[in-house]
Amino acid sequence: MPEVSIVIPLYNEEAVLDALIKRLKDVILGLNFSVEVVLVNDGSTDKSARLIEELAFRDSLFHSVFLSKNYGHQIAISAGMACAHGTKAVMLMDGDLQDPPELIQQFYDKINEGYDVAYAIRKKRKESLVKRSSYWLYYRLQRLLTKSDIPVDSGDFSMMSRRVIDSINAMPEKSRFVRGLRSWVGFRQVGIEYERDHRSAGETKYSVSKLFKLAYDGIFNFSNLPLKLITRLGLVTIIVALIYIVFLLVRKFVYGDLPQGYLTIIAAIALFSGVQLISLGVIGEYVSRTYEQVKERPLFLIEKQIINREEVG
Ligand code: UDP
Ligand code: MG
Repeated sequence: MPEVSIVIPLYNEEAVLDALIKRLKDVILGLNFSVEVVLVNDGSTDKSARLIEELAFRDSLFHSVFLSKNYGHQIAISAGMACAHGTKAVMLMDGDLQDPPELIQQFYDKINEGYDVAYAIRKKRKESLVKRSSYWLYYRLQRLLTKSDIPVDSGDFSMMSRRVIDSINAMPEKSRFVRGLRSWVGFRQVGIEYERDHRSAGETKYSVSKLFKLAYDGIFNFSNLPLKLITRLGLVTIIVALIYIVFLLVRKFVYGDLPQGYLTIIAAIALFSGVQLISLGVIGEYVSRTYEQVKERPLFLIEKQIINREEVG
C-alpha cells in the first residue's frame, strides 16, 4: 500500500493533463516515500476520460476513479478521499497546476512532525482583480458569519493524516465543503504559505453558479447565524416602527397635522416585503439543506475504477 495518496479531481481537463502528469512524475521521482495518484474523472465530456483510462492501464502509479456523471469539485474530492489507499496521509490538489505539487514534501514533513492537517495558504493569487477581491471579501465574510476556524485564504490544497481522512469520509453530510469539514475535525493543524499560479491551460471549470454554490455552502453549512440575524432584524424593525408610530400619534393629537402619508405607506410596504422575502429565503436555505440531507441518497456513484492497471467494478 502506498504511504501517501494524491487526490486530483478532473473535469474536462484535456488541455492540462499531459503537463500535469509530467510535473507529477518529476516530483514523485524525487520522493523517498511511496505514492499513488488518484485521478477522479468527474464526468468529463472531452478527451480527459479516455486519456485518464489509458494512463491508468499503462502506469500503476495512477489509480483512476470514474464517477457516473459530473458531481462537482467538492464531491469529486470526496470520492477521491473515499477511494484513496494512502496509509499515512492523503493530499488534495487541483488538476490545473494552480497548486504546485512540489509542496508535497513540505506537507509530508509536517505530517511526520505530528500534525494531522497541513493546508496551503495563498500568499499571492495570479488572478484578475475582480476575482481576487471577491475571494478576499468572501473569506472574511465567511469568517465573520461562521465564527469558525476555517482558515482565511486557504482552499482544498492540503494534506491530511489517515485518521482525519477516515473521520471526514465517515461524515454523513451531503453538502460537502471539504475545507470546512477539514477544519472542523480539529487535531493539530498548520498552514504553509505558497504562491498560487495561473491555471496552466484551458478555462476555469467553475461556472459562476458553481462558485456561488460553494460560497453558500461555506456559510450555511457552518453557521446558523443568518437564522438568528432574522430574529434580530425583526426586533429592530419593530422598535423602529413603534418609535415612528409614537411620532405620528404625537403629530396627530398634539399638532393635529397628520401628513398625507402615501410615500410612507408605499416605502414601508416595499421595504418590509423585501425584508420578509429575504428572511424566507434564509429559512429556505436551511430547509432545503435539511431536505437534501434526509433524502439519504449516496454522495456519488462510481462507474469504474482502475487500480494497479486493472479495472475493478
Ligand atoms: N473540477 C471538477 N468538477 C467540476 C469543476 C471542477 O472536478 O465540476 C475540478 C477541475 O478539473 C480542477 C479543480 O476542480 O481540477 C478546480 O477547478 P478550476 O481550476 O476550474 O477552478 P478555479 O481554480 O478556477 O476556481
Ligand atoms: Mg483552477
